[in-house]
Amino acid sequence: MFTPKKNPDSVTILGRGLSGNAAARLAALSGIKHQQYTDADNTILPPCPGPIVVSPGIPPDSALYRAAQSSGAPMLSELEFAFRLWQRATPQSRQLAAITGTNGKTTTVELTGHLLRSVGINAIEAGNTGLPFSDVVADIIAGKRPNSLIPVLEVSSFQLELADNFAPTAAVILNIASDHINRYNGGLAAYAAAKLKIFAHTPAGNRIIGATMSSSDFNTATAPARFSCVNDMICFDGRKVFNYQKTSLPGPHNLENLLAALEVTSRFIPHEQVFSEKLRLAACSFHPGAHRLEVLPKRGGVACVNDSKSTNPASVVAALTTVKPKNPKGICLILGGLDKNMDFSPLLDCLDKVKKIFITGACRDKLLALLQPYVACEAITNFDNCVGAAINHAVPGDMLLLSPGCASWDTFTDYRQRGDRFRQLVAE
Ligand code: ADP
Repeated sequence: MFTPKKNPDSVTILGRGLSGNAAARLAALSGIKHQQYTDADNTILPPCPGPIVVSPGIPPDSALYRAAQSSGAPMLSELEFAFRLWQRATPQSRQLAAITGTNGKTTTVELTGHLLRSVGINAIEAGNTGLPFSDVVADIIAGKRPNSLIPVLEVSSFQLELADNFAPTAAVILNIASDHINRYNGGLAAYAAAKLKIFAHTPAGNRIIGATMSSSDFNTATAPARFSCVNDMICFDGRKVFNYQKTSLPGPHNLENLLAALEVTSRFIPHEQVFSEKLRLAACSFHPGAHRLEVLPKRGGVACVNDSKSTNPASVVAALTTVKPKNPKGICLILGGLDKNMDFSPLLDCLDKVKKIFITGACRDKLLALLQPYVACEAITNFDNCVGAAINHAVPGDMLLLSPGCASWDTFTDYRQRGDRFRQLVAE
């Protein structure tokens, strides 16, 4: 594992959002001079005396990113920057888990943190979950958190692109499906290659892959699964641990998340603790966060589900596979938003429960062209009107499902605002 001999004297930070500001705080606490820019400030960067730290929100096709590239200074992601300083701040006791994948990262990170804490491990969820890793490292340096803390990091492909030394103790790739293809000229292969970097410095026995993936999907050795689910029983090395039906984790996708979270947890605890009552209770008490197949109160006999966090076709497939409307062909699906040059064709294989699709957002023409030959569709530009039309169409026993499969930024600030609006419209 590479540890720079000393901190750089100075860094240039791109971005003034959560990650950029956390990196600036970390730099200041580490005695590193820093200058901070966003695209709005200046596209011609002044000479950069040290490395350039890039926040995940700065896209590679932005003028600022290009200016950084042409400056010739080394570029690293906020994740890599925080990692290097974390190594220096925690010389003895450093342990870290990192989780990536197209879908399920937040759920798996939160579940892993919850499981680890249940058996007395001081773990904290960070990374793309809202608390930047730089903030955790800054807190450790400031003495606000112990350096024995185990960060459980949600890691995106954007952060991994510029992370050459990042070395988690245990790392997960949950799944890889069409997403963010607008960012990668090399398409899905380039996106997958960025994700694969999470394994580069992790021992093969701790490279965990999601249950639907096989080691042949990767050009590197991965860990054989020790957890499995046999007839609803979660097993460790073939020994029963607990009944999966006792959890509040619906659908095969959440089983994938649970198995991965248990694999990670097992890398940080003695194996007999895998069978402990505390771990079982923790697994059974966990609920995925809001906006992830969140069940809302029924409306006139119509079930309502908010899955606004579904931002790619694979998460819509997960939703359609999991939900069970009372009327067998009763799903009124609200789909659409901002495309990321994604392949939506996997949706065609899971339309059997869908009554009608209400298509909204910037990519409605693409979705309509694909889906209309196979299922009743209606395109309505305005989100509120689209939800209204779906509500009017549904009859008792149907299900209103918001699972947009697209980013929200064409209409909303983020998926939370979209989900909150849906909730409000349904309640009204
Ligand atoms: P991420 O952080 O990767 O976006 P989340 O846990 O926030 O993942 O879930 C995002 C969306 O993906 C939700 O719609 C959720 O229901 C769905 N989802 C969660 N886990 C998986 C999985 N393993 N495979 C497919 N879809 C998933």
